[in-house]
Amino acid sequence: MVRYAGIEGGGTTWRVAIAEGDPRNIIARETFDTRGPEETLQDIVDWLKANGPFDAMGVATFGPVDPNPNSEYYGYITNTPKKLWNFADVLGTFKRAFPGVPAAFDTDVNAPALAEFSFNAAEGDTSCMYVTVGTGVGVGLVINSKTVHGLVHPEGGHLKLPRRPQDINGAFDCSCSFHGDCVEGICASGALAAFKVGPGVQAMKPRRGAYPYSTLTLISQP
Ligand SMILES: [Zn+2]
Repeated sequence: MVRYAGIEGGGTTWRVAIAEGDPRNIIARETFDTRGPEETLQDIVDWLKANGPFDAMGVATFGPVDPNPNSEYYGYITNTPKKLWNFADVLGTFKRAFPGVPAAFDTDVNAPALAEFSFNAAEGDTSCMYVTVGTGVGVGLVINSKTVHGLVHPEGGHLKLPRRPQDINGAFDCSCSFHGDCVEGICASGALAAFKVGPGVQAMKPRRGAYPYSTLTLISQP
């Protein structure tokens, strides 16, 4: 039975799993705290070697990433504010550790978008948008059954979104340091925590309970 390895990178944790037969049939999983790339990725490689073998692997990570297979930096996390991860060769690390194993690579929002599309789309559907709201707001897109890449990643969090009149004049400050009003500045966890009117809202903690079957779909979908 075909076995898949799925790897999902986040700013707080990295998750890894092995599935058998169907990407949703996870038979082993582990979570590692995010430290520097060398030690974090080595922990994952060691875990995969102990829990393998597997036939294909999918890697999805926080960005920005280079998803262009023709680029010299394909599979890297690129210019990220997480300084330790600046130009970390994520995909290359796994390809070197598991030579010959086919590997797919995408962002941590495109992978779940593809998962939603793959497993929940209705007959005839061709597109899907995935929105995740946490410390930021991320958007992944599937158009014509494929995740969207291009010059830059699709942007949704920093679209302009005017505040309601009653939320202006000190009632509610947009939490984005770049924009006066935007989706992330109004809807992400920091913004909700800063909301000064209505029922109290506590800042959301990073989600720790989810596992990367979405990543696994990267490798079960051509
Ligand atoms: Zn913004």
